[in-house]
Amino acid sequence: MREFERSQFLPRQQLEELSFSRLQTVLKYAYANVAFYRNAFDARGLKPSHVQTMSDLKAFPILEKEHIQNHIDELVSREFAKSELLLDRTGGSTGAPIEYYYSKQRYHSRKAATWRHNGFVDWRIGDKAAVLWGASRDLPEPKLKQKLRNLILDRTLFFNTAGFQPQAIVQFNDQLKKFRPKVVLAYANSLALFAKYLQAERIQPYSPKAIITSAETLTPENRRLIEATFGAPVFNRYGSREFSVIASECPKRDGLHVMSEGLFVEIMKDGRHVEKGETGELIITDLLNFAMPLIRYRIGDAASWASGDCSCGRGLPRLSGIAGRTTDFLVGADGRLCSGAVLTVAMVAQRPSLGQVQLEQNERGRIICRIAPKSGVKMFPEDRQFLIDQVRQYLGDGTAIEFDIVSRIEHETSGKYRFSKSTVKDLF
Ligand SMILES: [Zn+2]
Repeated sequence: MREFERSQFLPRQQLEELSFSRLQTVLKYAYANVAFYRNAFDARGLKPSHVQTMSDLKAFPILEKEHIQNHIDELVSREFAKSELLLDRTGGSTGAPIEYYYSKQRYHSRKAATWRHNGFVDWRIGDKAAVLWGASRDLPEPKLKQKLRNLILDRTLFFNTAGFQPQAIVQFNDQLKKFRPKVVLAYANSLALFAKYLQAERIQPYSPKAIITSAETLTPENRRLIEATFGAPVFNRYGSREFSVIASECPKRDGLHVMSEGLFVEIMKDGRHVEKGETGELIITDLLNFAMPLIRYRIGDAASWASGDCSCGRGLPRLSGIAGRTTDFLVGADGRLCSGAVLTVAMVAQRPSLGQVQLEQNERGRIICRIAPKSGVKMFPEDRQFLIDQVRQYLGDGTAIEFDIVSRIEHETSGKYRFSKSTVKDLF
């Protein structure tokens, strides 16, 4: 963390060189130790030494989610035993679940990266924070060690946005006023909904020093709504389960600084790297996970590069205009609400054997669960039951579920895949 705190203020060119030389190291390492890359590079007649400039990278293959789904064993370095690694899974922004491994060392560097970026808004270890988060696996387990850790270090008040109900909103608002956190970290859409409810009911909100939104696309309207309601500046963050924090806004809020010491970010369009200001697909390489290197991974989000240097003095490159995950809120028969982002984790991430899943809602209390199974994979009755159980856990027992099995799930006109879509108005 000390290293990251220092390096963020290096000149931009020096950070670019650092990132690029780490990329070359990962390529060399993967070619020597990871069967998947050895085969993929050999099949194209490529050698890591061919990469001398950014442009040389274009010849190297893109890592798709399906590659990870189908070749996880060949993606683990021969230098690591799976038993010593951490396994994680994601529903991902595309609704296609993957599992992946990372080393304990990477676990620590990810934590350090997160705290470095928390420091952008002066959120330091030990400061009080409130977290509105939906993915229950991210919430601390009620173990003694965890409780102690939270008491001493994290000092965090959690609010699970799964099963979002008016009564719970009022309660959490009261808790916030008592707990007085410095920072609120939240799913962008959940906090916007929270704000809307407080405004509609004329309830006095709590005002923290700073608000960080993440996990979902922050629209300009939602940023305005949240800032006006809570009377605090909103800082956008872009992260993912595969990489942890990818980029976040500093106090200047002029683009999101990339965690470039740990991630090599490319933006591609039509097989080339984009110009400044031009939007393209994000392709990300993890520079610090040698256990299972993700090289040129298509994360499924789009962005552009911000131009010029940031006046905060950080040399870290900046992303702007991130078009990431978009999910709608779904509403159960009894009126409880759940963010689509929460259900992605609850439903898809737990069942990597499913292909893509999409939830659609056109009337209260009724959900259409659309599934495009992976080719050759049969949907078993227990998969169906699992999905029904998950939906009912988050949206209540009275919620009706219909299945719609299709060969593929269409993308939106924007090109983005939407995990949940709803035409239901008046959520409260
Ligand atoms: Zn800055």
